[in-house]
Amino acid sequence: MSTVKPVHRKLRVVSNKRLASDHYLLELEVDENISLLPGQFLQLRLEDSIQFLRRPFSIFDCENKIIKILYKLRGNVTSLMSKLKKSDLVDVIFPLGNHFPQPEKGKVVLVSGGTGFAPLHFLVKELLNNKNLTLEFLIGGKGREVEAFKNFLPSAVSVKIATENGSAGEKGLVTNLIADIEGWIYSAGPIAMLKAVYEKIKV
Ligand SMILES: Cc1cc2nc3c(=O)[nH]c(=O)nc-3n(C[C@H](O)[C@H](O)[C@H](O)COP(=O)(O)OP(=O)(O)OC[C@H]3O[C@@H](n4cnc5c(N)ncnc54)[C@H](O)[C@@H]3O)c2cc1C
Repeated sequence: MSTVKPVHRKLRVVSNKRLASDHYLLELEVDENISLLPGQFLQLRLEDSIQFLRRPFSIFDCENKIIKILYKLRGNVTSLMSKLKKSDLVDVIFPLGNHFPQPEKGKVVLVSGGTGFAPLHFLVKELLNNKNLTLEFLIGGKGREVEAFKNFLPSAVSVKIATENGSAGEKGLVTNLIADIEGWIYSAGPIAMLKAVYEKIKV
């Protein structure tokens, strides 16, 4: 559980880069030391916009007072986000949500679909501190963006990828890559994918 009370801040954009197709990485600078935990998210509102509802985004990474968000273009807000420039301000409430529970030793399989990669990427950073774990990351997505995702992972993590259009890795759904269901499994992505993962691993 998060022990840090959520704060409301205007954060400055450090960078906002297109990674691949319709996926972007946004970096925001925080003035204070706030510890964010894997599994947590923030709620974002753009300045000077008519946006009414805040939009939730998982913490992709947080280091040296820089919070990173991996986002996909979907509608109005993510489209406006893609136009953010260095030094622009965004209105953010964070941290929200809970931390992932963790095993002490053994095999861990992480299964992501689309931008579900973001929270699991942050989790991997933490799991790597425990030398008694072996990590396998199964990354699923529509197309080549998964290769950009894979490049964020250190070599200590064994990675397999599946794409719906077959442009990278195995063609098909990421759930086809789940072979060994021993140990811990974490999954993040669309609800249909989570249901398919559950069907695959239930005993
Ligand atoms: C806890 C949480 C964490 C999230 N983390 C991330 C993240 O790390 N990166 C990221 O890109 N997105 C993430 N999302 C989804 C993100 O909040 C939406 O993509 C965003 O709100 C879309 O805003 P928009 O105004 O651009 O699109 P809207 O105009 O609100 O929607 C445009 C279209 O996208 C569809 N859509 C909206 N939200 C989703 C969704 N969650 N999944 C699939 N389709 C959707 C709508 O049905 C609609 O068809 C997260 C959602 C939650 C609840």
